[in-house]
Amino acid sequence: MLCPDCSATQKSGQPLNGVLEVEWKGTPESENPLDFLPVERQYFPAIPVGNTPLWHPENLLSKYGFPELYLKDDGANPTGSLKDRASFLVAAFARKYAIREVVVASTGNAGSSMAGVGAAAGLKIKLFLPRTAPPAKMIQALQYGADVVLAEKNYDQAFALSLEYSNTHGGMNRNTAYNPMTVEGKKTVSIEILNQLKKAPDHVFVGVGDGVILSGIYKGFRDLLQLGRIVKIPTVHAVQASGSAAIYRAMESGVFDGKPAKTVADSISVDVPSNGHLALKNLKDFDGRCITVTDEEILSAQKELSSDCGLFSEPAAAAAYAGFLNQKRSLDSGETCVVLLTGNGLKDIGSAAKNIIIPEKAVNSLDEIS
Ligand SMILES: *Cc1c(COP(=O)(O)O)cnc(C)c1O
Repeated sequence: MLCPDCSATQKSGQPLNGVLEVEWKGTPESENPLDFLPVERQYFPAIPVGNTPLWHPENLLSKYGFPELYLKDDGANPTGSLKDRASFLVAAFARKYAIREVVVASTGNAGSSMAGVGAAAGLKIKLFLPRTAPPAKMIQALQYGADVVLAEKNYDQAFALSLEYSNTHGGMNRNTAYNPMTVEGKKTVSIEILNQLKKAPDHVFVGVGDGVILSGIYKGFRDLLQLGRIVKIPTVHAVQASGSAAIYRAMESGVFDGKPAKTVADSISVDVPSNGHLALKNLKDFDGRCITVTDEEILSAQKELSSDCGLFSEPAAAAAYAGFLNQKRSLDSGETCVVLLTGNGLKDIGSAAKNIIIPEKAVNSLDEIS
């Protein structure tokens, strides 16, 4: 999966060395994002991944005076997160090469996604989850029929166990960044944004943990640039939780310090971002920005998205919107901004519950309510 020479110098506690990238050659047969992927269409399972809605939320447009603000709702994917884009390509790849089992470590969404998409593809899924994963994500994976193993410590441990498993038992490992199809599969979101807007946006905001979605967004725009479909790569804003900001710190210091992460946004809670090197390179090469937002900003952005536009996102997704709110003063209000909402709010109701008031008592008659 990795470049053998580069990965030979791998140090523990550091992002993966030698992550491979797919190289684009030729011209796609159509504008359908599937025609930009390295596996032929006939291998993709019959589950409708992608084509997620692009919202133009009138209440927020007028509230902040950004007429060209859009929300891309990737929580509308079949298993409720953008991870389906990667799982879809991984499943097609496995089918093309007659691989029957896929092994994956996940903080929750990648696992439930691979389980669901894998079910549609007729694949066997072995999933390693940290014991602390939100229950909904684990239950989702079990519903889809995955074989789930809980890691006692954290995601980093689940990652190591899954690699040991696929190395000794076989099966294809889908770990994020490690399997090059994960970055490649996620690029379809950029192609869809171009198709939906009929132009490239000026800014894209995205919540960042391992930096794979970020690199997927860049890969999509880079392919489009190479094909002459766009003239410039949009400014991508990588939004990290202030308690899980390894890429933000590495942008400043050049090193990944491995500091333990802690944030309410579990899907972007990462000590050592597995795709840190590529994420950093993309941000530097294309003038991307990396910013942090606090857990309070994330939960308040999540609440605002829900109550102002009817879009319920999980905290890691709402982090992208918190990033937009945090940065909007530095943007030109006429610019086109796309906020990528990567996962559905029902996946982690425990976090959402922190910022609402749940009625305490039940009533028998209307006389009891004020
Ligand atoms: C995985 C995930 C992210 C972050 O993606 P990375 O590739 O780890 O940076 C953000 N939001 C949601 C909902 C996710 O599931």
